Amino acid sequence: MKNKKLLAILIFLIMTVITYVFLYRKTEAPKLNGVPLIVEDKEFVIKDSVIVAPQDNFINSNSSISTKYKIINRDLVTPIDAKNQQKAVLLTIDDGPSKRTKEILDILNKHNAKAIFFINGINEKHNKGVIEETYKEGFAIGNHTWSHIDLKKQKDVVTIEKEINRNTELIKNLTKTPPLFFRAPYGESNPYVRKLVKEDGMIFMDWSGAAKDWEKSTIEKDVFINNAILNLHSGSILLIHEHPWSVANLDGLLTAIEEKGYTFIDPKDIIE
Ligand SMILES: [Zn+2]
Repeated sequence: MKNKKLLAILIFLIMTVITYVFLYRKTEAPKLNGVPLIVEDKEFVIKDSVIVAPQDNFINSNSSISTKYKIINRDLVTPIDAKNQQKAVLLTIDDGPSKRTKEILDILNKHNAKAIFFINGINEKHNKGVIEETYKEGFAIGNHTWSHIDLKKQKDVVTIEKEINRNTELIKNLTKTPPLFFRAPYGESNPYVRKLVKEDGMIFMDWSGAAKDWEKSTIEKDVFINNAILNLHSGSILLIHEHPWSVANLDGLLTAIEEKGYTFIDPKDIIE
């Protein structure tokens, strides 16, 4: 009887050890030359001697927080999931394409920052290929009307419709994707414009912060940066243009935003 009891305890201990070893092996990060392959809390795996990055939808053991966002009041980006406490802002760059767009892409890429480019179709004929390249590099192309007219001042609905639809058609032709975002030039619109934009399946977007680079004083780097980061908060939508001085000061601005602990929202994560 005593032996049977001892045997049972022994089997139980062996099973516990086996279970522990099995679980430990399963959760241990893969190693390369003895160094665990963990980057930013995400495990990389080795498949056929090739290191494979984790999938976007990788969920680690202690979190399953959605990284999707929605636009509220046209000027705030809010996480769908209240558990998402990430400090993040959205960059928007208006009035392109221009001969400076490619330089802007390089600066954004250096900071691993995505953005929405609100374009005017009228600028495309002097900047062939720029919209396609911007889209290919993973940036969003937004509709900012064909020729940057003040929509609020238009009495004629046909003009309003033409300005919006012609731009949508161009974006569709060049990127094979309809634009998801719309911004009215000068931030001027009316209920009809907003209804039209909604019917076209676009998200209407204003801004909550700007470098105010339409002011000549923003040639000064400090003025440009201070304007942009004044009242910066999580979910801010920042407006910048493609002016030469804006491009010259952009790298400094992105660094200043990062130093405040913000990351940059990918427009692809905005779903409504
Ligand atoms: Zn504009």
